[in-house]
Amino acid sequence: MISELDNFNLNSSVVQKLPSTLFHGHSEIYIKRDDLIHPIVSGNKYRKLKFNIIKAKELGITKLITYGGAFSNHMVATAAAGAAHGFETHCFIRGEELKNNFNHYLKTAALYGMKLIAVERQQYANHKLELFETYFGSDNSCMCIPEGGETEEALLGVAEIVNELPFAPDILLHASATATTGRGLLMGIATRGYATKLLPVSVLKNSEEQALKISTQFSNANFELLSDYDFGGYAKTSPELFEFIKTFVAATGIFIDPVYTGKALFALRSLIENGIISKAKKVVFLHTGGTLGIFSDRFLEKI
Ligand SMILES: *Cc1c(COP(=O)(O)O)cnc(C)c1O
Repeated sequence: MISELDNFNLNSSVVQKLPSTLFHGHSEIYIKRDDLIHPIVSGNKYRKLKFNIIKAKELGITKLITYGGAFSNHMVATAAAGAAHGFETHCFIRGEELKNNFNHYLKTAALYGMKLIAVERQQYANHKLELFETYFGSDNSCMCIPEGGETEEALLGVAEIVNELPFAPDILLHASATATTGRGLLMGIATRGYATKLLPVSVLKNSEEQALKISTQFSNANFELLSDYDFGGYAKTSPELFEFIKTFVAATGIFIDPVYTGKALFALRSLIENGIISKAKKVVFLHTGGTLGIFSDRFLEKI
């Protein structure tokens, strides 16, 4: 069979069982391998893009425009998806990051053909839509995708993950930053009528904002946002976290990163250790991808 040019393969996101030795003897910890849907990008950023790409094709759009910081998984996912689906891609980047820190995220995006547009921090922070208007406003072949891919279409793409699970888990746990993935998963859980409890693990200090976003959309949602595992904030780490990551990768062959999935799995192990998650519960951990994260110089030197 000859397939279409699309390097993202949702069928490769299988569910596997993790060794109980990593989780204090808990023998029902499963992992949903969204890290396998793409060799470089992987994970939830493609889930969020999927229906935006379908919509863009239907509308005859030829250019995807988005925003990112120097370590943005969303930026790289947009670049990779654009390359595979025949879109031109452009990304506004905070200027000094492009100049001073042309790192492996930015280089990967550039390799996929993405045009990086350096803008001042102030403009980036407060005038995102004006930037789009100024650069692309008169060109109706453009679609603007917000930072991090936070759109209504993103929720539909994430909700599909729940459909792909081979059973209804008691607990579904994942790394959370904007709560977009969390909201999509809750949508999927509701659609299936599952009694699954969602445990988003906040990887930065915005858990109240995240919880509010979720409860505003779903008044009776069965979720608990975990705020004790951010290790001091976004991309902050500790030697204990790196020890855990090294043990996990060596015992499973699955890459996890210190910014997102490492923190969430560390949280899962702690919750089991403290008896908060009982060994009778069937747990699915959603691997949201982001494995490029481990290849940042400042993290590599800790391995
Ligand atoms: C962006 C990201 C998240 C967080 O997703 P949100 O939808 O913003 O909560 C989790 N894991 C990885 C690897 C990510 O890149």
